[in-house]
Amino acid sequence: MPIYEYKCGACGHEFEYLVMGGKNPEGCPKCGDASVAKLMSACGFVSKGEGGQVTSSSAATSSCAGCSATSCAGCGS
Ligand SMILES: [Zn+2]
Repeated sequence: MPIYEYKCGACGHEFEYLVMGGKNPEGCPKCGDASVAKLMSACGFVSKGEGGQVTSSSAATSSCAGCSATSCAGCGS
């Protein structure tokens, strides 16, 4: 299941949300505001091969530059 990154428009809190059934988060887990925006992060879509090789070349190079490094398991940084 895809995990998307969201950012609260009220307090700026960024969080990851496991999307199930296409549902968006109801609100910010920190302040509860409903104005959350999905961040376009490629990190959630990076699939690593069995040998630890990142199979998606585009994501391996520069797509992760814009993501927050707090909890990105895809970019490895
Ligand atoms: Zn918030």
